[in-house]
Amino acid sequence: MAESFEDTNVYFRKAAKVMGLPDRIQRVLQNPERVVKVEVAVELDSGELGVFTGFRVQHNAARGPFKGGLRYHPTMDEDHCTALASLMTWKTAVVDIPYGGAKGGIDFDPKLHATGEVERITRKFTQKIHEVIGPTVDIPAPDVNTNAQIMAWIMSEYSRLHGFSPGVVTGKPLELHGSEGREEATGLGLTFVTEEALRRQGATIAERTFAIQGFGNVGSNVAKHVAARKGRILAVSDHTGGLRNNDGIDIPALLAHAKQHGGVVKGFPGAQAISGDQVLLEPVDVLIPAALGGVLTKDNAKDIRAKMIIEGANAPTTPDADEVLHAREIVVVPDILANAGGVTCSYFEWVQNIQHFRWELDEVNSRLKKYMQRAFGTIWDLATARKISLRTAAFVVAIGRVGKATVLSGL
Ligand code: GLU
Repeated sequence: MAESFEDTNVYFRKAAKVMGLPDRIQRVLQNPERVVKVEVAVELDSGELGVFTGFRVQHNAARGPFKGGLRYHPTMDEDHCTALASLMTWKTAVVDIPYGGAKGGIDFDPKLHATGEVERITRKFTQKIHEVIGPTVDIPAPDVNTNAQIMAWIMSEYSRLHGFSPGVVTGKPLELHGSEGREEATGLGLTFVTEEALRRQGATIAERTFAIQGFGNVGSNVAKHVAARKGRILAVSDHTGGLRNNDGIDIPALLAHAKQHGGVVKGFPGAQAISGDQVLLEPVDVLIPAALGGVLTKDNAKDIRAKMIIEGANAPTTPDADEVLHAREIVVVPDILANAGGVTCSYFEWVQNIQHFRWELDEVNSRLKKYMQRAFGTIWDLATARKISLRTAAFVVAIGRVGKATVLSGL
């Protein structure tokens, strides 16, 4: 099930209620500022015409240029894109980087297309949206099924139209104005947040067991960094299925296996094959959903056995499920905090692009750690003081920041 805008707004309204926010302000902050929908028609290798729909939803720019990823996925539609754009507004505010929120994408599966076709689709999409993006206007980045190569094509197409503009997208290849650390930043940021959450319970990653759903950019990098801190990962899954090893999966070996087998975990010899859905229900301390949205529902929330959930994906938990998890006192670290390391490092990349200056990996990662720890501390302290969930606390902090910027700019 795809994330819906209404689901995001359920969380928004819960926080708005805690804040006593007037209805009119709620409406201004909830609605997207601009919704762009374009036709992307290209000639496919077969000679046939491929016709796709592209989106860019610009949700809010009160705190700075619109910012957020591009998702290439058949489930992409306007409502879904608006939900994800709204989450970006709150996410950039939670980590306090000077951006608003946006999201975009195209309703197709790039895995079913040749590289040349994906390039033509990307360039055509860029031609269709180039007037509404730009280094000080709206800065796309990778998301599900998009990567550094796709960002390079967008930068190239945009620069053809507007002159040299590396700051128009983030998540670019290192050889083309990308930043050290950006590729791993979401996974590393999530690991920092996990460390902080466990520290508040007097524990460390090394003392806990984990299950990770999803083994793409986020899931595989979380696995790498959790394993490097001696956390025991008992189960992982991706779209090809799940794996379980109660002694702990050998993550460096699994990463090597995935690299050799088109990025998938299927067929890894060092674990028992289980279903992808089962991974969510394994008896581990910490569950990390790091694939698509809407996977924790009211149907499976009662069966979750983890005591802590760290949301690597955007919107993995439906509002119904969130209620159940809260009632069961399972600690949920919400997406807009947990996975904000990616966009935080995107910010560092953009700063480097603007200054035409390059930071070393140590500098990037130590700044990332500082931003994630600071955001976590603010949210945790508020949640504790007000006796609210971490998600509601994150929304309260974010809405407060966006609301203040809006009022200061003058309605
Ligand atoms: N797609 C990522 C996210 O959902 C990163 C966005 C960005 O770097 O702008 O946070």
